[in-house]
Amino acid sequence: MKTQITRRASLACFAAAPFAVPSLEATVDRAANGYVDVRKVRLWENTRKEFRESLEGGVLKAVIVPTGSTEQHNEHLAMIHDTASVTLVAELGALRVYPQVLVATPVSVGISPHWMDRKGTLSLKKETFLAVVYDICESLKTHGVANILVLNGHGGNAAPLQEAMPEFRRKLGINVQFNCYWDAYSPEIIRKYMESNKAPGHAAEFETSFAMAAFPERIHWEGVDYEKAKSSLHIKSPESARQEEQFAREAKLATTAKGEAMLAIAVDWLAGRLQRLIAGA
Ligand SMILES: [Zn+2]
Repeated sequence: MKTQITRRASLACFAAAPFAVPSLEATVDRAANGYVDVRKVRLWENTRKEFRESLEGGVLKAVIVPTGSTEQHNEHLAMIHDTASVTLVAELGALRVYPQVLVATPVSVGISPHWMDRKGTLSLKKETFLAVVYDICESLKTHGVANILVLNGHGGNAAPLQEAMPEFRRKLGINVQFNCYWDAYSPEIIRKYMESNKAPGHAAEFETSFAMAAFPERIHWEGVDYEKAKSSLHIKSPESARQEEQFAREAKLATTAKGEAMLAIAVDWLAGRLQRLIAGA
């Protein structure tokens, strides 16, 4: 039985969290676990005593390191979208295997040089980004964490992280794995739920649906009107401008129900992935 905590009550819990998503993250399977405050799976909300005792008592088996971005998401989505979405999936997945997995502080700026012609995007150089992720993994290893899942929510981070994994594993000597949360979506799932037949995409049907389900307060619908916005955008490349128009068109296909379905699929997939991670795979 799923129990939905009231928005007001959950907001009180999450006031201090930078990537809080009040409406969904308080949904916990009461029948299986009882209510677990989502802050319990956030490493940064734990005390050192809680962390130490969980690790030394053999309770804590793995840590997720979420990686996202702070980058333009067209006119209508907040720039924290990728970080907020991957962190939400990570937290809900960790709750499903509570108390065996914690979520580390998200890496909230990623590799986004391709969006630097849109105002607001923050970007790290590939080597800076990889060094930050590596140092977080090394910190966890130093404390005795044996299993790490780097869980990514931004396309530009994916290939560099994937390529870096063998070196991370070799240098750290522990089980470090990498996935994007959209690895949950087979072509059949994407066909079934996305009219555009695309996921993840960028600020289009998938991400807008996700935001509608997870954090609707981060959507500014008037921004989906591309015709109105285009003269103020100053996009230099014609191809990039065409792409932008297409994203805006596809964003109009978004619905809350699609977002809820895709989020639930990602969390189910992650719960299974975490079980395998704990087992060393
Ligand atoms: Zn995105």
